[in-house]
Amino acid sequence: MRDTAHLLNPADPDFDEIGECSLDYLITDLITGLGEDVSREGLLKTPQRVERSLRFLTSGYQANVEDVINGALFEAEGSEMVVVKDIEFYSLCEHHMLPFFGTAHIAYIPDKLILGLSKFARVADVFARRMQVQERMTSQIADALEEVLKPKGLAVVTEASHLCMMMRGVEKQGSSTRTSAMRGAFKDDARTRQEFLEAIR
Ligand code: ZN
Repeated sequence: MRDTAHLLNPADPDFDEIGECSLDYLITDLITGLGEDVSREGLLKTPQRVERSLRFLTSGYQANVEDVINGALFEAEGSEMVVVKDIEFYSLCEHHMLPFFGTAHIAYIPDKLILGLSKFARVADVFARRMQVQERMTSQIADALEEVLKPKGLAVVTEASHLCMMMRGVEKQGSSTRTSAMRGAFKDDARTRQEFLEAIR
């Protein structure tokens, strides 16, 4: 099952309220520079729409992990592996500002603390909604969760399709990229790592 509850719906009334339109004149220049006529009807409101869209897609710059977690950290006994898989994410590659998107799988072995399950997707969004490279996004998610949970081990695997590869350049439509960050027991113990990788297959 894909976890999509954390993705803000464009139909949400707050969706258009993100940020102010201060870049729309730049987007007007960009569209003109590309050879389009910004005064034709279909494009009249496009600069404002593009700005709002970009501000949403990069809203991770205004977010922080502490606010997102907001007390959903609980003390708990036990040290069994927790796996949260198929967390949907959307990001922008920092080289072309084109989307890359896919799923993140996160596992940890608690020490004394556990985190509400819905928060993993929210933390992933803090780092996905920026200009990114997939490798760095994956380790930033791992670093942030490790700092909060101080677990015995933590692992993040992300799988993504990159539109900058699919639409241009090498045009490898079917390719996907997998990156991982393994910490603690997932790094040191091959059996723990294997159990996680089996769980997300
Ligand atoms: Zn790219």
